[in-house]
Amino acid sequence: MEQLAAYAVTEAVSRGRLHSEPAPENRGEFQRDRDRIIHSTAFRRLEYKTQVFINHEGDLFRTRLTHSLEVAQLSRDMARALRLNEDLAEAIALAHDLGHTPFGHAGQEALNACMKEYGGFEHNLQSLRIVDMLEERYAAFDGLNLMHETREGILKHCSLANARALGEIGRRFIDDTRPSLEAQIVNLADEIAYSNHDVDDGLRSRLITLEQLDTVAIFAQYRREAGTHWPGLGGRRLIHETIRRMINAMALDLVARTRANIVAAGVETLDDVRHAPALAAYSGELGAKLRELKTFLYENLYRHERVLHVMGMSQRIIAKLFATYMADPGLLPPRHQERVAAGKARAVADYIAGMTDRYAAEEHRRLCAPNAS
Ligand code: MG
Repeated sequence: MEQLAAYAVTEAVSRGRLHSEPAPENRGEFQRDRDRIIHSTAFRRLEYKTQVFINHEGDLFRTRLTHSLEVAQLSRDMARALRLNEDLAEAIALAHDLGHTPFGHAGQEALNACMKEYGGFEHNLQSLRIVDMLEERYAAFDGLNLMHETREGILKHCSLANARALGEIGRRFIDDTRPSLEAQIVNLADEIAYSNHDVDDGLRSRLITLEQLDTVAIFAQYRREAGTHWPGLGGRRLIHETIRRMINAMALDLVARTRANIVAAGVETLDDVRHAPALAAYSGELGAKLRELKTFLYENLYRHERVLHVMGMSQRIIAKLFATYMADPGLLPPRHQERVAAGKARAVADYIAGMTDRYAAEEHRRLCAPNAS
């Protein structure tokens, strides 16, 4: 294997784990992190959580699990191209969506509104809560006891108030320093993955059309290129040939610009990475094209009336469940009841956030609308 760049995260420069453990035998520390994430309960539940399309709308759409796998694949490829720590990038990518509520962004907004007087709800912070506290699998500690750099990558954003409460892991938001390049790359791999798979799922669901997408420069460009290379090609194959070209163009551009930024900033060590401006970036031209695509998706897919309708229903489910458990915490499962003493609202939010789309809908039916058929 090619040697890592001097600014990559390595075990030697890592700040390690909160609880010290014997070193793993046949794998590295960051591989161990990845393995712990894959074996977690929260990871398995990603299969039944969605971002845009609710789980019961069809089996063809991305779930948070397949999304996370796509982000991991892109992150690994780009990390390898930049000679960064692939295992760390993969671990961050697989964990990046663990804290999401059921029903995508609508669910997160609803739960945040319910938690307004109790410190709010934020999915990044929830992902960290899961790997630091909520997973109950190990005898010696709560959570997964991950490496500092994996946890840092999971906590993408954080308010200053929350950062202060978090201590060491929140420090960079107060000091205004950057996370590792591995974390920066995963953040943008996430954007590349969802922007492209939402085009695919949006077309498949017929909520958006090829004619509409042809008004978006980057899509029109690569659809034309695919059509020139494969005259007469149509249907799903043409869509896929277009999307794969978009993904490839974005990944290549990101790697090239990031490499140039590293050189221009004179970055040589991980510490340099932390004190430089954000280094992982697209070129100006590609960045503008990607913004245009994202605006298109926002206006035509995420705010499509059919999506908004389902989101509205989902928000009512979350709000009703929250009110129901707050009124009677005895309805919570025993392990969540144990957390009520430390804060009832947070215990309720942890329970609801952990639900899959269909479990939340079933619980709502059982508790809040028992006579409805
Ligand atoms: Mg994501």
